[in-house]
Amino acid sequence: MDIKELLKKNVQYIKGVGEARAKLLHKLGIYDVEDIITYFPRDYEDRSRLKKINELIDGESCAFEGIIASKVSQHRFRKGLTLYKVLIKDETGAITASWFNQHYIGKVLRIGERFIFFGRISGRYKNLEVQSPVYEKHDIGEARNVLKIVPVYPSTADLTQNTIRATISSALEMVGGKLEDFLPKSILSEHQLSEINYSIQQIHFPKSDEDFKNARYRLVFEELFLLQLCLLSVKKSFEKDKKGIEFKNVPEMDDFIKMLPFKLTNAQKKVFEEIEKDMESNNVMNRLVQGDVGSGKTIVAVLALFKAIRNGYQGALMVPTEILAEQHYKSISELMGRYDINTALLTGSQTKKQKTKILEEIKSGEVQIVIGTHALIEDNIEFKNLGLVITDEQHRFGVRQRSLLSKKGEDPDAIVMTATPIPRTLALILYGDLDISIIDELPPGRKPVKTYPVDDGMRERINNFIIKEVRQGRQVYIVCPLVEESEEINAKSAVQHAEKIAKDDFKDLRVGLIYGKMKAKDKEEVMRSFVGGEIDILVSTTVIEVGVNVPNASIMVIENAERFGLAQLHQLRGRVGRGEYQSHCILYSEGKTEVCRERMKIMQKTNDGFIISEKDLDLRGPGEFFGTRQHGIPELKIANLYEDIDILKKAQEAAITLINDDKDLEREENFKLKTKMLEILSEKLYNITMN
Ligand code: ADP
Ligand code: MG
Repeated sequence: MDIKELLKKNVQYIKGVGEARAKLLHKLGIYDVEDIITYFPRDYEDRSRLKKINELIDGESCAFEGIIASKVSQHRFRKGLTLYKVLIKDETGAITASWFNQHYIGKVLRIGERFIFFGRISGRYKNLEVQSPVYEKHDIGEARNVLKIVPVYPSTADLTQNTIRATISSALEMVGGKLEDFLPKSILSEHQLSEINYSIQQIHFPKSDEDFKNARYRLVFEELFLLQLCLLSVKKSFEKDKKGIEFKNVPEMDDFIKMLPFKLTNAQKKVFEEIEKDMESNNVMNRLVQGDVGSGKTIVAVLALFKAIRNGYQGALMVPTEILAEQHYKSISELMGRYDINTALLTGSQTKKQKTKILEEIKSGEVQIVIGTHALIEDNIEFKNLGLVITDEQHRFGVRQRSLLSKKGEDPDAIVMTATPIPRTLALILYGDLDISIIDELPPGRKPVKTYPVDDGMRERINNFIIKEVRQGRQVYIVCPLVEESEEINAKSAVQHAEKIAKDDFKDLRVGLIYGKMKAKDKEEVMRSFVGGEIDILVSTTVIEVGVNVPNASIMVIENAERFGLAQLHQLRGRVGRGEYQSHCILYSEGKTEVCRERMKIMQKTNDGFIISEKDLDLRGPGEFFGTRQHGIPELKIANLYEDIDILKKAQEAAITLINDDKDLEREENFKLKTKMLEILSEKLYNITMN
């Protein structure tokens, strides 16, 4: 059979795979032969080196050889739970091995026979133990599970490692080294990449550490190279060092900075310097500004806008929610007004009449700064001379929306701001030429928010605490996961919760309610009352998640905290602790799982957004966390966004060189590569549209 045909064959075509097993494989996303041979191990166990018993180390997984030195003993704990133990010896020492419920073990492990074992060691010297080791007789020919580096696959409980190993092994046998290399020879040799058949074989069953490294390097390179090629082809051109506006120095800048109600932190100064340098160069700026919630990103954006306007250009600031747009509009138009700079607000819910007027003024250049939501990127919006575009809370936008905003001008400089750190590798994949600035310092005088994970048993005490704080003049947020009660989902809804607490828990306090679907006017009304101190407790959904600033609010209560991501909890918590008061964050959680408890503990332990997102990554896995899917990027099969940055850079350079050399991959040596690329583009990357 043709190798191409074979790769597309259903997994049932593989020896030993029946209907039932095929179903289990489907659960892992494995449907055809190609899927299974590219189902890469998540880890390896080195069972290749045999240790002497006196070399075994507490806590390590080791392979060793020994002679069965006792009869297998049985200890029955209760019905259905029997422990089997046996003593193993070599010339250096002894170790006890134990298994639960392996009734046949006494028949296999007979005194005087020699076996190889692999398992996790515990204890030392005279009390060495190994629990449930795998074992194999030394002399049965080719060893399967010991004496080699053994792959460990991501799996569900129903499929054992042995089954996956055997299935992959049979599939590789069928493929028989006939995979075709679609990477051009020139790239293989220039980057010293291993051949494809060797790489696939060795990634599953590496003969040595070096073979594994070679294989992995090649496969990671291939994955990132292909992804980069696809992105380049979608973007059409790689916009590195693209010529843009050369902004001039603005003499009034010092004056403007002095007028601010606070002194800039050193981190803000440093980041703004980086931005100024970019703006003054003749290349297009593409800068990501990262800074934890409350680190003061807005003001940095304001300074850049001021510079752009004083250079005679217009500026635009795009934010994900109307509330945030309104709040930014309020503070920014106030600052800019003092310099006679005309700022406008543009949101989806403005009346047609309002909009028409603003659109005209944007077009004529009368409006110099426009702050808005997605409404900013609608087709009918035209600028006179847009020179600077800024996207706030950029993780809420897709690649496409950001680039649509840039398209409103002629190669304007661009800043994207986010409180959610993204790894440099992903930034490179997504933006290629993005530079990163980090505001790594909070304004002085902030007291870290104290966080308490609790359950319903604490409600009365917490309610009393809230009442006490409100009596002292503070304000409170209560966030619920849902807007309205739902039959399917058992979680608090903002509407019902607000009704209940207004009548019951907090009947003497002023309770307000806000959620995304309310009319913009009503939302604004509620927000205004909250800012003005006319509401004590604001019940909401996550509409307040990003950006909103009320320094007098000191308590953040989150209902059903288990339903939120850590990064989101951190954002929500960032709504308090913005003023001089000690602030508190209460996380009500009904989640009983280990991971859930772990997550709440992390929130309690740290206020550092970078640490939180790293832990979140740990607990959730990269694909889900970074929403690579949300960016339209397929989940990576082997490359690691944290570790493989060096390979990524090489792959990226190689992709650029290749495209510069053969723009549409029309040369014969690139033909297979092009086919592969088109396959990926049609199957997996259909979501990316960045033109
Ligand atoms: P974020 O980075 O989360 O967008 P903001 O820009 O909203 O943070 O700033 C949070 C709060 O800190 C605002 O009330 C802002 O006025 C204030 N702030 C910003 N910079 C400073 C500073 N250097 N000193 C004191 N307060 C500051
Ligand atoms: Mg902000």
